[in-house]
Amino acid sequence: MARAVSSSRLPSKEAMKVKATQRKKPTQLSFRTGIGHDVHRLILGRKLMLGGVEVPHTHGLDGHSDADVVLHAICDAILGAAGLGDIGEHFPNTDAKYKGISSVELLKQVNKKIQDAAWAIENVDVMILAEAPKLQEFKPKMKYHIAFGLNIEQTQVNIKAGTNEGLGYIGAKEGIAAYAVVLLKRPAAHCGMQAI
Ligand SMILES: [Zn+2]
Repeated sequence: MARAVSSSRLPSKEAMKVKATQRKKPTQLSFRTGIGHDVHRLILGRKLMLGGVEVPHTHGLDGHSDADVVLHAICDAILGAAGLGDIGEHFPNTDAKYKGISSVELLKQVNKKIQDAAWAIENVDVMILAEAPKLQEFKPKMKYHIAFGLNIEQTQVNIKAGTNEGLGYIGAKEGIAAYAVVLLKRPAAHCGMQAI
C-alpha cells in the first residue's frame, strides 16, 4: 500500500515528456532596436509636413514624397530594427507612384512589412531639429498621427523638438532633420521564427 502511494506521486513518463518539451520552448520575448535619421531642404512653395501634421510656416521641405522627415526617420528606424534595409530600398524616389505620397501611407506600409515578419512595435522616440518654426504646440497632434499610422497607443510614442542653437545648415534654416529610435518586440509565441 505504502509503495503504491509513493509511486503515484512520481510524475508519469508522459508528464515528464511534456515538461521536457516545455523547457525547449522559448518563453522570453525577443527584442530588436533600430535607429533612423533623415534631413530635407527647406524651400519656398511647399507645405511643411512633420509627423503627419501640416505645420504653418513660410517654407516647406523639398522631396519626392511629402518630405516628412519625422516619418521617414521613423520608417528607417523600424526597418533597421527588423533587419529590412532602409526606406530608399522599399520606396525609391525614382518611382513615380511615390511622388507626392503622404508619408503616413509609407509608415503604414512599413508597419505591415514588420508585422508580416512577426514583429510588433514597443516604442518610438523621435528627436526633431528645426530652428523654426516652434513645434511645441504640434507635438500632441504628431503623436496622434504616428500612433494612428502604426496602430499603437500614443503612450508608446515620444517626440522631442529642439533647435540647433543657430549652428550649421539647421541653424541657418536651410533644412530640418529628425532622428528616431524604435524598439521592436516579437511575442514569445513567435520567438522560434527565423529572425529576418
Ligand atoms: Zn526623407
